[in-house]
Formats: sequence, C-alpha cells, structure tokens
Amino acid sequence: MTVGNLAVVLVGGRIGSWPARSVVAVNLELAVVEETFPTAAHLVDRIERARWPTGSRCPYCNTRHASRIKTELRHHCNYCNTSFSVTTGTFLHGSRLDPRKWLVAVGLRLVTLPDVSARALAVAAGVNRNTACRMLNKVGRGRHEDAAFLTLLVELLYEEELL
Ligand SMILES: [Zn+2]
Repeated sequence: MTVGNLAVVLVGGRIGSWPARSVVAVNLELAVVEETFPTAAHLVDRIERARWPTGSRCPYCNTRHASRIKTELRHHCNYCNTSFSVTTGTFLHGSRLDPRKWLVAVGLRLVTLPDVSARALAVAAGVNRNTACRMLNKVGRGRHEDAAFLTLLVELLYEEELL
C-alpha cells in the first residue's frame, strides 16, 4: 500500500495483529521501478546508455567492434569473438536476477534505508529471503569492489526520480 510517496511494506504477514515496528517504510519497491522500466530490457538499455554513452565497448579487448545479439540482452564482440553484457565485469557479473530487483536493493541499501533487513528487501524486490540476503551482501561488498558501477546505478535512480 502507499502512504504519500512512501510504499509501506508489511513484513511477515497480517497487518492487524502486528506491532507497529513490524511495518517497515521503504520508499523504493519493484512496482515503482516497473513504472519507469516496464521490462528488464528497458533498464538494461538505460544502463547501457549511462555506461557506454558513445556505444558499447567490449570489456575483454576494449574495442568497439561489437554488435547487439538481438535475442538476448548481450553484445557480440567481432574482434575477440566473445559475448558480453553491460554487467560483465561488474559486481552483477553472471547474475540471472532481474536487474530491476537489483536496482531496488541498491537504492534501499545504499541510499534510503541502509539498515534494510533481508525480510524487507524480499518484500520490496519480490524475491525470497535467501535471495534478499545474498543481494544485500553483494551490494555491501560492491561498495568496496565496484564503487564505479554502483555509483552509476545510484545516479540513474536519481536521474529517473526513483529516489
Ligand atoms: Zn572483444
């Protein structure tokens, strides 16, 4: 449900019998991201424009001789003959999770709710608790290991007025 511009997520179950502290206010959730990015492809396209403003660049050989693979959100490098995506080499390398869910985790954990619990993230991002737990760890580690890409995502959140 929504109160003002805050989405209120009920953690755990029924609202009536829960103490007030069980209701965690988060101001970013998957449904909000989906309004701006109806599909994962929309977000990937947006990240690509932010990361490669002058066109895709192969992270393996650093050339620009790549072409988009039409059926996937990936590119094929015609120089080193490998394929890559906009998250190759970032802290999201290899993740099969919808990038819009990652955007929710990044926004909450790094900006609006740094102590967000795995439970609250699970509800906000529409994932199970184990996945939410892994996401929080990964975003936390990413702050040290991949600050550049995380900064790009946070800037994107602000530019799209999702925060
Ligand atoms: Zn290449």
